[in-house]
Amino acid sequence: MKFSTFGFDDRLMEGIDASGYEEATPVQQQVIPHILAGKDIIASAQTGTGKTAAFLLPLINRIITTPHDSSTINALVIVPTRELAIQIAQHLEGLSYFAGVSSIAVYGGGDGGAFVQEKKALSMGADIVVCTPGKMMAHIKMGYVKLGGLKYLVLDEADRMLDMGFYDDIMFIINHLPAKRQNLLFSATMPPKIRELARKILHHPEEINISISKPPEKIIQQAFVVYEPQKIPLVLKQLREHSFKTVLIFCSSKQSVKQLTRELRRNKIKADEIHSDLEQDKREEVLMEYKSGRLPVLVATDILSRGIDIDNIELVINFDVPHDGEDYVHRIGRTARAEADGTAFTFVTPKEQRKFAGIEKLLGKPVPKGNVPPELGEVPEYNPVASRPNNQKRNFKPRRFGNRNNSKPSA
Ligand code: AMP
Repeated sequence: MKFSTFGFDDRLMEGIDASGYEEATPVQQQVIPHILAGKDIIASAQTGTGKTAAFLLPLINRIITTPHDSSTINALVIVPTRELAIQIAQHLEGLSYFAGVSSIAVYGGGDGGAFVQEKKALSMGADIVVCTPGKMMAHIKMGYVKLGGLKYLVLDEADRMLDMGFYDDIMFIINHLPAKRQNLLFSATMPPKIRELARKILHHPEEINISISKPPEKIIQQAFVVYEPQKIPLVLKQLREHSFKTVLIFCSSKQSVKQLTRELRRNKIKADEIHSDLEQDKREEVLMEYKSGRLPVLVATDILSRGIDIDNIELVINFDVPHDGEDYVHRIGRTARAEADGTAFTFVTPKEQRKFAGIEKLLGKPVPKGNVPPELGEVPEYNPVASRPNNQKRNFKPRRFGNRNNSKPSA
């Protein structure tokens, strides 16, 4: 689903483009319309699903498109750790770059200078404050935090916050907020204590469940960090060197499906293709050939990633990095069905590195990187932080306090 479906303000769309997001992830598709409609939500979504943007985007949109008081805090995002606070503030910086939303991250462990700056922002107002519970409580106790006009509260990684013993701090903060506000609660798991917290603070929430299953342990996963032109030679090499009897190759566009199938055939590899340009009859025919074992290599778009049951696929190749973690799990789940072991290779080009790092985050561990044969030439380094697709040239400085509404300069 394209982001244009949500009817976001143009200034926000520019930030989405600059962040390199093309399509909304499943959690974004489900959560964003409810937030835009002003509903409370309780969502179970893990890190790596795009959950941060799922709440930041509609929040930014609501803030910039509705009249709001810039001399107060409009939205409060409470998170368990300073690392997460910094990460969300940076994320926010990128997405709201053209929207002119003021924001600050408030977290423990900073020096005196940081405290003064936080105090200034919290007493003058900021559109969005991202904070850890203890530090925010400390500021509130000192009496200058402007919370009277607050409209939005987000609790992110709520289960982790409760595990870390922040329940009392969170309730202290909530007791200082206006009663009429929109509440968004995100949690990777939903134990009873989260349900209880939800009962206390949410009003008729929409419940959204996007838990993603992890791929079976027995799948051997490997990623190959390559440049785009090295992909086809690498497939050819892998198919020639290993004797996989059933291979399924996923490409993200029908053009690359067609091109790759052509190249495989040119190299005398028996391969066929499935994509949406083919009539249903033809697709079924190809699938039958493949299932019967007569066709060893099938190249397909995502049409095939979910739900179809083909046994004994030995190797899945992600010729392009799948759109999100869920797609990755579904795609590689085509192999290692039942008792069989399976192998899953993923090719990662420089512009896909960041997306792949998001998937690795979701899986909870890095995917081992395979060696690309030296005769294919020099390969890129795996450095996902540096590989932001469209905003490479733009220097997003983490902004502790800077905005269009307040007259004080940014730090
Ligand atoms: P999160 O689950 O919020 O930690 O996000 C995981 C990663 O996915 C982050 O690096 C985000 O920048 C990235 N991301 C979020 N939404 C999208 C999207 N729609 N398309 C591509 N990447 C995204």
